[in-house]
Amino acid sequence: MTAALYTSGAGLSTLLFEKAMYGGQLISTSEVENYPGVGRITGYELAQRMYGQLECAGVGIAYDEVLSILRDGNVFRVRCHTGEYLTRSVIIANGASRRLLGCEGEGRFTGRGVSYCAVCDGNFFKGRTVCVVGGGNSALEEAVYLSGICSRVYLIHRRGSFSGEERYVRAVTAADNIDILFHHTVSRVGGDDRVRFAKIKSAVTGEVTTLEVSAVFVAVGCVPSNCRFSDTVSLSESGYILAGEDCRTAVPGIFAAGDTREKHVRQIVTATADGGSAALAAVEYVRSQRDA
Ligand SMILES: Cc1cc2nc3c(=O)[nH]c(=O)nc-3n(C[C@H](O)[C@H](O)[C@H](O)COP(=O)(O)OP(=O)(O)OC[C@H]3O[C@@H](n4cnc5c(N)ncnc54)[C@H](O)[C@@H]3O)c2cc1C
Repeated sequence: MTAALYTSGAGLSTLLFEKAMYGGQLISTSEVENYPGVGRITGYELAQRMYGQLECAGVGIAYDEVLSILRDGNVFRVRCHTGEYLTRSVIIANGASRRLLGCEGEGRFTGRGVSYCAVCDGNFFKGRTVCVVGGGNSALEEAVYLSGICSRVYLIHRRGSFSGEERYVRAVTAADNIDILFHHTVSRVGGDDRVRFAKIKSAVTGEVTTLEVSAVFVAVGCVPSNCRFSDTVSLSESGYILAGEDCRTAVPGIFAAGDTREKHVRQIVTATADGGSAALAAVEYVRSQRDA
């Protein structure tokens, strides 16, 4: 939505494709409190506001799924369910989804103690005991971040060592309110109207233990869905689109913005920042084509 706002603002004829509901992951975010200028707001309301701005700018939305993007001379063919569109440039901003744990209670308590983003929701659990699940950089970073807010953090990892970088490993080991539980998985999240406990199972003994926690932060990775674009742009090993900070891919005219891009931080503020950068790069590209 940010990219579309910028390209239309620069006078380019812009069409935004949306396969579901505008707002993407914002729609499943109960509360956002780290997006500057708007205070505490529901994800839905923030999406509505962004959409309102687009409507005022006169940007059209095509509710359709993009199935493929193919270069044809100096234009791109964008194929959707309802037909094909020709365009000079494409900004791919199809996001990503958080990988789920898949344990009992996870779905029921999502937004009521089960969270996929410590930076987003950590503040709601100030002074409480929480757990973080995962063993990569995100999980370690989240555990350290939460240890500064929460009274106690259990870090649960199914393997016997972390896959995250050494500096993060050192930080979690040094924190005196982080308890590391290797070789454990979460078998169930439970509570009443909110999370009250997590049941964890030892992969070594099979023993099930109950941890009294107010939140379960799941940090077991994100899942991009870029297979359909793998013939068009280069993907990283984990399936994200390779593009620099200016959001340019190796294919002139195609840009990647937001969570779909290979990068370190996936937040609303970084997605909107990418949207602006990608749009300005696209504007430059389209003008250079027009002038050529
Ligand atoms: C539960 C949860 C809570 C979060 N809380 C916060 C928070 O408090 N603060 C924060 O900063 N970040 C938060 N995040 C992260 C933040 O929501 C994302 O970083 C941000 O939404 C990424 O924006 P995006 O536009 O790149 O992708 P998305 O939000 O994933 O949007 C991508 C859009 O593209 C559409 N799409 C996908 N494929 C196609 C296709 N082929 N054709 C057409 N349309 C397509 C999707 O339907 C979707 O609308 C949270 C995420 C989750 C899941």
